[in-house]
Amino acid sequence: MSATGLITDIKKFAIHDGPGIRTTVFLKGCPMRCLWCHNPETQSDEPVVGYLQANCIGCEKCIEACPQEALSLGKDGIVRDRAICTNCGACVEVCPAEAMVMYGKEVTVAEVMAEVEKDRPFYENSGGGVTLSGGEPLHQPEFAIGLLKAAKEAGLHTCVDTCGHVPWSTFEAALPYTDLVLYDIKSTNDAVHHEYTGCPTALITQNLEALAEEDVEVLVRTPVVPGLNATVEDLAAIADLLMGLARLVDMELLAYHELGEAKFERLGMTYKLQGLKPPSKELMAELAQTVQDRGVNCRVEN
Ligand code: SF4
Ligand code: SF4
Repeated sequence: MSATGLITDIKKFAIHDGPGIRTTVFLKGCPMRCLWCHNPETQSDEPVVGYLQANCIGCEKCIEACPQEALSLGKDGIVRDRAICTNCGACVEVCPAEAMVMYGKEVTVAEVMAEVEKDRPFYENSGGGVTLSGGEPLHQPEFAIGLLKAAKEAGLHTCVDTCGHVPWSTFEAALPYTDLVLYDIKSTNDAVHHEYTGCPTALITQNLEALAEEDVEVLVRTPVVPGLNATVEDLAAIADLLMGLARLVDMELLAYHELGEAKFERLGMTYKLQGLKPPSKELMAELAQTVQDRGVNCRVEN
């Protein structure tokens, strides 16, 4: 239980991250750079500073405290030059309004488990447990596996929410302590996948094929993002991939939403999908039906 890791949050009463009521731990670091990422604060391996303009009272203490002179006052509040900011956190320490925030905290497995244990009655009554998310939770393999092992030893249901782009050896090491894998498949089109996530598809597909040979529950989840995959052809291709696996796995579709955009702004990152509208309910239903028609059990997650 000595492993330590970097997390951004521990979310209680999560109901979309596996069965029942769960506690979801968000680990930092991810090999992907999805353009629609809902948790961009988890992408980097290091702690990163964000700015919540709505909280800012304009006292300029952060500007005075910054050793890099990376901050200035603009027409919409504080502007941070990310090219010279070292994420040292001096601005966070002096900010009286929680407008400067640090995303990333080093914690031990024992500290996370102490938090998780507080909600044990809810897991027991609902069939819930612990979910590791991120970021890519297996990007910190030692810490993630330490958490999964500790949770299993405590008799809790465990779930890993993964992008799939990690070495197979890491999955192999995690599987003895994992009850459910929530596995993202975003597209079978390598060029488009690369453009929207920064990663190729080969390793993700190989790992899914290997997972289907293992004794672990797998649920494939697909974020439906216009431009990436929101067509009947794209979803049919994903369904065909699943039908080729060693066993049938279920699938869930999640509609793109713009909630990540505000987080990109907080971090001073560019949101390249600005103005993109979520797919309609009708389209989501049509895409789910397409997958069903190919033989894969599919539902739309609301
Ligand atoms: S985190 Fe960045 S902006 Fe804040 S004080 Fe350090 S260098 Fe300056
Ligand atoms: S210290 Fe905090 S409240 Fe003051 S200007 Fe900076 S961000 Fe705003």
